[in-house]
Amino acid sequence: MNRIRLLSEQVANQIAAGEVIERPASVVKELVENSLDAQAGRVTVEIQAGGRSLVRVADDGQGMSRDDALLCLERHATSKIRRAEDLAAIATMGFRGEALPSIASVSRFTLTTRERQSDSPEGTQVVISGGKMLEVKAAGSAPGTTVDVRQLFFNLPARRKFLRTEPTESAHIQHYLTLAALAFPEVAFTFQKDGRSIWQLPAIKSGSDTPARLAALRERLRALYGGEQALLPVDFSAAIPPSEPAGEEPGSDLAPQTSDLRLWGFIGGPGVSRLTREDQHLFVNRRPVQNRGLNFALFEGYHTALMKGRYPVCCLFLEVDPAAVDVNIHPAKREVRFHQEGEVRRLVAQAVRETLLRLAQSPQSTVHGPQSEGGKEQTGGEGREVGKPGQASLPSFPAGLPPPPDPAQPARQPVLGMGFGPPQPAPGSPAPPPKEPRSTHLTSASRPLSTKVAQEPRPTQLASAASAPSPGVTPGAAVPLLKVPLRLLGVVARLYVVLESDRGLVLLDQHAAHERILYEQMLNRLERNDQAPSQRLLLPETVELSARDASFVREQLPVLGRLGVGLSEFGERTFLLDALPPFVKAADPRRFVLAMLDELKASGLEVNSLRLGEHTVAKTVCRHAVKARDPLAGPELEALVEDLRHCAMPYTCPHGRPTLIEMNFRELDKKFGRIA
Ligand code: ADP
Ligand code: MG
Repeated sequence: MNRIRLLSEQVANQIAAGEVIERPASVVKELVENSLDAQAGRVTVEIQAGGRSLVRVADDGQGMSRDDALLCLERHATSKIRRAEDLAAIATMGFRGEALPSIASVSRFTLTTRERQSDSPEGTQVVISGGKMLEVKAAGSAPGTTVDVRQLFFNLPARRKFLRTEPTESAHIQHYLTLAALAFPEVAFTFQKDGRSIWQLPAIKSGSDTPARLAALRERLRALYGGEQALLPVDFSAAIPPSEPAGEEPGSDLAPQTSDLRLWGFIGGPGVSRLTREDQHLFVNRRPVQNRGLNFALFEGYHTALMKGRYPVCCLFLEVDPAAVDVNIHPAKREVRFHQEGEVRRLVAQAVRETLLRLAQSPQSTVHGPQSEGGKEQTGGEGREVGKPGQASLPSFPAGLPPPPDPAQPARQPVLGMGFGPPQPAPGSPAPPPKEPRSTHLTSASRPLSTKVAQEPRPTQLASAASAPSPGVTPGAAVPLLKVPLRLLGVVARLYVVLESDRGLVLLDQHAAHERILYEQMLNRLERNDQAPSQRLLLPETVELSARDASFVREQLPVLGRLGVGLSEFGERTFLLDALPPFVKAADPRRFVLAMLDELKASGLEVNSLRLGEHTVAKTVCRHAVKARDPLAGPELEALVEDLRHCAMPYTCPHGRPTLIEMNFRELDKKFGRIA
């Protein structure tokens, strides 16, 4: 008996819909992609009840003839590719030819379209319900295409049950639309939710060169998120070298070829981060994508400028030859695969790193948005958490006042949806509670710290990307913080150094700053291959470890030695500690070693390798060196600021926490209610 049969078109479409159409946001995505592929200049999206009752996408694009309007609803009907080879060079968002028939098979669907090119004022309307064609008629309409999708999954109750609440589904839709709007600033977007207008984004004229595109993107970001954004522009290009030298003879089609890679967009400054990837927007040839390699590349690029457990904030566009990337690996085209994943990853990390380092070198590299109107409601940032920079430490200024009763008092910062604003203080900040107000006898209280940096081309600034709690940028704030004279006022909680500039208040985290300085000195030394200075202990100590710890330590001995920690094997599980770097003023060297080990073990788990890299070990040694230090006195503090000016990445400690926070007078005035 024959038991195999071909599925009906309708069932086949519903199966395809299972992959392509997961939720209302998938419908919005497919329809908007079609509008963009049709060269629309304006896209209007309307949803009701989180897209469950209605998704309507209207565009002023090319439109379709009557024949095409019927054909586009067939499975595997597309105008975007013809041959299999075209798959290797896709320049459109769509190409699978399954979105429209899939959507139409699981909803009540109406397509109204009129060709832009045709003279006839008449368009075509096709009505389909659950995959069944109900009506095809001539209909008057403006040039372009409108698709109405009502009651998604009405014929698949099981799927409909899986939909989340209206706010959740709306949030997914809004997220996708944000991505589309960022990728296409030259297209006007309108978004309406339950009859309420959420966005009216005007089209932004843009040239094809990167500066023009950056300017357009910046304007779009502003329109979406409002307020100030302290972002660093990225503009990087490089050649992807050919992969393995293949065996083909030169000149053949298969011979390895270099192709160009361009990365442009914006990234958050050092210390700017979020708890989730939510504000990490990555595009490959204008397509929003998820790609683990790129995520890693970002982390690698930020390196020490990012706190553990946090994610970079970015809006980055990667452009590569379409032949160098495979977009057909995910039904919803969410993921891509690069043919030279490793190279792409390396170049992206390099681009990010160079951008961050450039911030330390050129004063004008941050972008300052317009002054935000404080308290103005910002659409697009609903319910997002925003850091409360400096909030925890500020109220204890001036020294001597009791700590604030409620550290959780609401921040009065306007909501910056992207988190593109302020850096956020580390959770569980290591600040010791102020036991007694420490009187600081600083003779230098009113003497400006050295300003000789003026002649120095070396890195020295902290643009507000790093410090900026600033909801508004004071005029002239583009001058890097470490380039303006700073006066030392005192120290709070034996940790936060209070400084004053002619722009306002500056707080410096003494530990974080010191850690950054030590770390960079250590790396410089490693780079020059110098032996780190090391001081012999008067009384060498032995440290006994568990068998597991002992074998772990054994792996790290060479690097520790190079960093000045004189630890050597002294028996099966015993080690001899006979020297330490001079900056380690550990009262109890043994405890120092044990504490360091614990942390090294923790990072060992993270990087999942037996022998830790020099950078990791150096980071840990610095951290523990700093913890063991005495409180600093006036001249030492000045030296600290001076040394910080010489760092390549002065704005964060090696673990990504901010070293400095600036509060300009405008913000202070606001907090005290002097200005609205
Ligand atoms: P794909 O986008 O992969 O080609 P779709 O099912 O999404 O497949 O669309 C099928 C075809 O219908 C497209 O190739 C395009 O020619 C046409 N089409 C769809 N939407 C529009 C639109 N908004 N404007 C003009 N043509 C459209
Ligand atoms: Mg499509």
